[in-house]
Amino acid sequence: MAIKITDECINCGACEPECPNNAIYEAAENWKFSDGTALLGKIILQNGLKFNAEESQEPLDDEVYFIVADKCTECKGFHEEPQCAAVCPVDCCVPDDEIEETEEQLIIKKGFLHRD
Ligand code: SF4
Ligand code: SF4
Repeated sequence: MAIKITDECINCGACEPECPNNAIYEAAENWKFSDGTALLGKIILQNGLKFNAEESQEPLDDEVYFIVADKCTECKGFHEEPQCAAVCPVDCCVPDDEIEETEEQLIIKKGFLHRD
């Protein structure tokens, strides 16, 4: 499952540079699938949703940092553990119980994001 940031976030910014998929954004920031990935142009996610990877998307939270679940791989393929959770001073990077993904699906997602 993807990691999510809870309302307890203190907006310190420590997690953002640690993400290998550029899945973490500051509050109220627009985001793109192409940020920090190899994705360009039209893309189809594993759930069938279609996007333009280079198109700006609306922020998912206006108050605290947020994680784009479709870009989060729990750091699989890069690190042993979620790096955002490892550096967060208030332990507010937690598994999102509503997004169930197997390790295999996370590895496929990592390959999709980076075209490898
Ligand atoms: Fe990024 Fe890893 Fe945190 Fe997911 S778990 S948001 S991939 S740092
Ligand atoms: Fe928020 Fe934790 Fe990230 Fe700091 S490290 S911005 S407290 S989620």
